[in-house]
Amino acid sequence: MKQVMLVTGSSRGIGAATALLASRRGYAVCINYLGNVAAAERLRAQIAAEGGAAIAVQADVAVEADVLRLFATIDAQLGPLTALVNNVGVLEQQGKLVDMSAERLQRVVTTNILSYLLCSREAIKRMATSLGGHGGGIVNVGSGASKHGAGNVYVDYASTKGAIDVMTLGLSKEVGPDGIRVNCVRPGIIHTDIHASGGDPDRVNKLASTVPLQRGGQPEEIAETILWLLGPQSSYVSGALLDAGGAR
Ligand code: NAP
Repeated sequence: MKQVMLVTGSSRGIGAATALLASRRGYAVCINYLGNVAAAERLRAQIAAEGGAAIAVQADVAVEADVLRLFATIDAQLGPLTALVNNVGVLEQQGKLVDMSAERLQRVVTTNILSYLLCSREAIKRMATSLGGHGGGIVNVGSGASKHGAGNVYVDYASTKGAIDVMTLGLSKEVGPDGIRVNCVRPGIIHTDIHASGGDPDRVNKLASTVPLQRGGQPEEIAETILWLLGPQSSYVSGALLDAGGAR
């Protein structure tokens, strides 16, 4: 059966590494992005040059109408989805909750939680055996922040990642009978642009010595973990929260 994957937020960082690796493993891939069309198109062109099949679709996955359009585009251009990677995630300027505006909290909560719920709902409609599908896999990209809470820097972000842990546990029970495995990978500190959004672009290097493995992680290392969680090698793994943080 043709393997079709959507990776939300995949123009850059962990999402882009996952989309590229998935293509190399034989998936047709939908790259999704918010505004950086140049990065998304570069990745799409690279996959095409390697002989893979990819489309790039702009959609704000925190907005239901965009999610419906995104899935309709995948249906039409790639065929039935077999794998969903809920990867999109944002954080904003480091600080304390007392200084965070309601608008910021709304942005972080809707992007990091609502998008996972909306995209999972649409994926399940297509994968569930009770709805005529053939099963599939969902991987939620959570964060090690759900273990320590990120107090004084971004407790809002960490709170959303706690929700992703719980969503993974609940959804894995709900859709297991439908042939869908749901797992979560919780990266530690990874070399991507996300830290610049928090106002600390060098955060990974600054914290590297606090990681028992003595370094930050690379997006490609998280991509390998995600592909494993979606592949046949992990066929009896569901509802797992898998830490990929160098033992931090
Ligand atoms: P990143 O480098 O900042 O990339 C973010 C991606 O999300 C970009 O492709 C961006 O698109 C897209 N995006 C943002 N808002 C979107 C929206 N509303 N709709 C659609 N796409 C949107 O992020 P990252 O570091 O790779 O993080 C990926 C995931 O890993 C996140 O869930 C994050 O919380 C998690 N994580 C990261 C780390 C880390 O240290 N990096 C650690 C733990 C967990 P544009 O290019 O168009 O802006």
